[in-house]
Amino acid sequence: MKSINPFTNKVIENYKEHTGSETKHIIKEVDVAFQSWKKTTFEERKNYLLELVNQLTEQKESLSNLIMYEMGKVKKEAISEIEKCAWVCRFYAENGAQFLDREVIESDASESFVSFQPLGTVLAVMPWNFPFWQVFRFLAPALMAGNTGVLKHASNVQGCSLAIEKLVRDAGLPENVFRSLLIRGSAVKQVIENPKIKAVTLTGSTPAGKSVAAIAGSVLKKSVLELGGSDPYLILEDADIEEAAKLCAAARLLNAGQSCIGAKRFIVVERVYDQFREAFVKEMQSAKYGNPEDAETKIGPMARHDLRDELHGQVSASVAKGASIICGGFIPDDNDSFYPPTVLENIEPGMPAYEEELFGPVASLFKVKTEEEGIKIANDTIFGLGAGVFTADLERGKKIAEKGLEAGCVFVNDFVKSDPRLPFGGIKESGYGRELSLLGIREFVNIKTISVK
Ligand code: NAP
Repeated sequence: MKSINPFTNKVIENYKEHTGSETKHIIKEVDVAFQSWKKTTFEERKNYLLELVNQLTEQKESLSNLIMYEMGKVKKEAISEIEKCAWVCRFYAENGAQFLDREVIESDASESFVSFQPLGTVLAVMPWNFPFWQVFRFLAPALMAGNTGVLKHASNVQGCSLAIEKLVRDAGLPENVFRSLLIRGSAVKQVIENPKIKAVTLTGSTPAGKSVAAIAGSVLKKSVLELGGSDPYLILEDADIEEAAKLCAAARLLNAGQSCIGAKRFIVVERVYDQFREAFVKEMQSAKYGNPEDAETKIGPMARHDLRDELHGQVSASVAKGASIICGGFIPDDNDSFYPPTVLENIEPGMPAYEEELFGPVASLFKVKTEEEGIKIANDTIFGLGAGVFTADLERGKKIAEKGLEAGCVFVNDFVKSDPRLPFGGIKESGYGRELSLLGIREFVNIKTISVK
């Protein structure tokens, strides 16, 4: 496995894969660590997580550089990613004990309560697009709950995988409570089937999720899946159009468009379509792509050339079927690591831009007559991760968010963001289960009923 800097196309490092027996040995060591870790108190785990916060803060510069070099994220976004990891560690350090406190329930017994006990070692299969955040979003609650973890990271970010393992060590956590497995997707089956692995969480594409869920199902192990999305944003006639255009472009371009909750489809009622189109295209075109290290760069390179080719293929196939390009839609001659901000319109069912996730800086515009038609198009997708609605009427916005749009999270007059305090996850082919908040930490625990006569 190799890490390639997508901006320079130079190989950063080659990594030797773990063999089957090395993988088995690591899992055994992590299981041994679990036997002691599960006996630590919440107070002890809290202090370890706070030490992780310190390490993340102290090492922010080098860790953000690693993200930038391995997958091309612009430096300032990479710094924010590390800061967010510190936030989630602090959040669970401060709230984990309360989230997992006994819940007393009245029954016929003299005493009955629910206790939340750790399950054991959880396998995390993670993607490259937020190579630290996705891992910490799993790791902080897992550790706080008394679980241990092994990570199979995306093949192109093994440097990040090993850096997270080292960070846990630097923070002084007991040896082997968290380990990285340098393995490919094809080796995940043996890991899930290992009796010492108690559950699996995967963040990644829908096909990867289906495969992992099928394996976990065959051995009856709990799984949580955070998968792809094609998030729709509904822009209504009473919205602040200039503000909506700014937020929508920012939501589409974050991480060079490589975000599961990146806004992807913009559904605009016809009364304000032209106004939104003009403001939105202006915002998209003004975003500068270039060296991720430069402060003025908005869009870094795409993480891998094959992903850029796949995206360009989806754009070209949509155009071949009748979609039109307002801007972008080409691979630049001067630097083929990038894909320029692209806006498509005249999109119909059957086109990739209608049916699939476009994982890059490509926006799809839809003109609709009414709110109802907009909601219908928004929901006409296999995905259900995030969604947005822009309107000056907050009651109308809340009603559409609550009852209209089929998604795991809907934001009114803002773009969808993950936040440790709020549950995060999808429905339909965007996955199941929730991360973050109280619900996230309760995914991988034994919800144990105790009844005393
Ligand atoms: P991916 O190709 O599905 O890879 C994700 C992880 O799964 C990688 O570690 C990958 O390993 C592994 N994997 C792939 N196929 C597998 C299989 N059949 N069995 C077991 N493991 C398998 O996705 P990606 O390109 O890294 O990430 C982009 C996708 O992730 C997008 O669809 C995005 O929407 C989604 N995503 C979702 C969320 C969310 O919270 N819902 C967050 C971020 C990203 P290899 O690298 O070795 O193939």
